[in-house]
Amino acid sequence: MQQLFHGLSAAPGVGIGNLYKYSPIPADDSGGTPAPPVGDPEDEWERFLAARLLVDEELARLAQIGQTATAEIFLVHREILHDSTLTEAVRAAIDSGSDATSATRQATGQLVKLFQDLSDQYFASRATDIRDVGQRLVYRLGGITSARQLNPLPNGTILLAEDLTPFDTTHLDQAHVVGIALAASTPTAHTAILARSLGIPLVCSAGAEILQLHSGMFAVVDGIRGRLLVDPDEETLEQYELTRSRLRRFQAEALSHSHEPALTPDGERIPVRVNVNSREDLLHIHSNGAEGIGLLRTENLFQHRTSAPTISEQLDAYQDVHSYTNSHSLTVRLLDIGGDKPVSYLQQPAEANPFLGVRGIRLLLRHPQMLIDQARALVELAHNVSPVSRIRILIPMISKVNEVQQTLDLLNEVPGYLHCRQQLGTLEVGVLIEVPSAALLAHHLAPQVDFLSIGTNDLAQYTLAADRVNSAVATLATPLDPSVLRLIALTCEAGRANGISVAICGEIGGDPSVQPLLLGLGLNEISVAGPAVPMVKSAIRRVDMDSARALAAKALKCSRAQEIHQLLHDFG
Ligand code: PEP
Ligand code: MG
Repeated sequence: MQQLFHGLSAAPGVGIGNLYKYSPIPADDSGGTPAPPVGDPEDEWERFLAARLLVDEELARLAQIGQTATAEIFLVHREILHDSTLTEAVRAAIDSGSDATSATRQATGQLVKLFQDLSDQYFASRATDIRDVGQRLVYRLGGITSARQLNPLPNGTILLAEDLTPFDTTHLDQAHVVGIALAASTPTAHTAILARSLGIPLVCSAGAEILQLHSGMFAVVDGIRGRLLVDPDEETLEQYELTRSRLRRFQAEALSHSHEPALTPDGERIPVRVNVNSREDLLHIHSNGAEGIGLLRTENLFQHRTSAPTISEQLDAYQDVHSYTNSHSLTVRLLDIGGDKPVSYLQQPAEANPFLGVRGIRLLLRHPQMLIDQARALVELAHNVSPVSRIRILIPMISKVNEVQQTLDLLNEVPGYLHCRQQLGTLEVGVLIEVPSAALLAHHLAPQVDFLSIGTNDLAQYTLAADRVNSAVATLATPLDPSVLRLIALTCEAGRANGISVAICGEIGGDPSVQPLLLGLGLNEISVAGPAVPMVKSAIRRVDMDSARALAAKALKCSRAQEIHQLLHDFG
């Protein structure tokens, strides 16, 4: 009999196939393999060091070429790999008679347990990273790991799991997995970002009940509506097969027109740009026909170092990124660290609620030299670009009008800033609207800047008071809630009244079905994950602006997110 499980859509598409239930081997479990004969402790220690070197090289490569959409996670894993607590625990286990593999399992198992028991959610989530590093080491030492369970897999596999780590995902048999269903996790987690860039439909937060299902059951992952259907009836299956083939046709069609502009039938031109987190994302710009970069997250450049990058190191990095924009603009977000993304050399005190703490511009205004240095590098770059491929500085985490004023006062002092902005026309400055107070005061912010960009990931989190990485409240933090839409509308009104452009760079912008609503609300530019560009452009080409405005007006009168979902469904 057909069974339906509701979750959240984390990567679009429809996958039809057989479930494969994945239960990772705990870090400290040998998986039933007989322990290898134990060599001399010094030999075992050498084996461990050799494996650690290989893992380090692997992580460095992944961080650089970005096998996943985020290099940052692999840099964190390198830190764990070299952490003295882990290394000393392995050494102690070897000295007391364990072989290198068992010693690694024991040491990582103990650490995982220690972190899992901590009440602080940030540290508890580090347990997954430690397990991941432990798996890589054990794998290199020749022991059983979860990777063996994930590759190879039969064709048409729907992977069912509680959650996946980046290690699991990079070792997944990607060619044969047609869908992923996770009991936990959220659409903004690393696995979701990776699944979107691989084009694998993913449903997350589907609840612990899905873990009662068995491998081999026939199922459909509906990454569009966030559902898992097991044993679908004949009619439902037929509908899904149709949707899947229609989607494939749309995708192929969209890709063949991706280098053409996104122009609505009424002649509204909407630039579609990409969000860049890692070097890998740069490769999507040209192949998917994106018009430059709408959000460059610069945090990677500053983290996992012993001191801040110099102006010339930053300039090199920004020049390199700019060379991928094909003469389109590059929006660089000023450093958005602090809170849950600490940098060791700043020695920030621990915070109980990091997302509500000294983050983004709040941190930069306390360390103005960091802001000035980043701006100097960007101004230098702006001296050497043309107005069409201009540099746009984006200020994150603004919650007060005076924070914009203070930031502009600092920028005005940077040599060449005013010249580039006023004479050369190669530099713009904008505010990231991601805190409700900024949206409510957008009419005071807009006159001070050249553009606004709406970060719906944080805007939804802060408006609905629902942590964006906590699966227990993931359904609350939707940007399609009427409260968030009203804030978007206010921001667009402020942009229009002041004659400046309003962009969106949150994840919701990558959903083709919401384009009529976004354009109807008044957004002028969209910035999305690279693979989403062709479908977003193609959706924009079908938007009739009058109907889109009528849709937005109706949506703004709704009281519940469900009504907005229904409106979108009926519209399109
Ligand atoms: C956002 O908050 O929507 C955003 C684009 O920034 P980030 O996801 O990096 O916080
Ligand atoms: Mg944000």
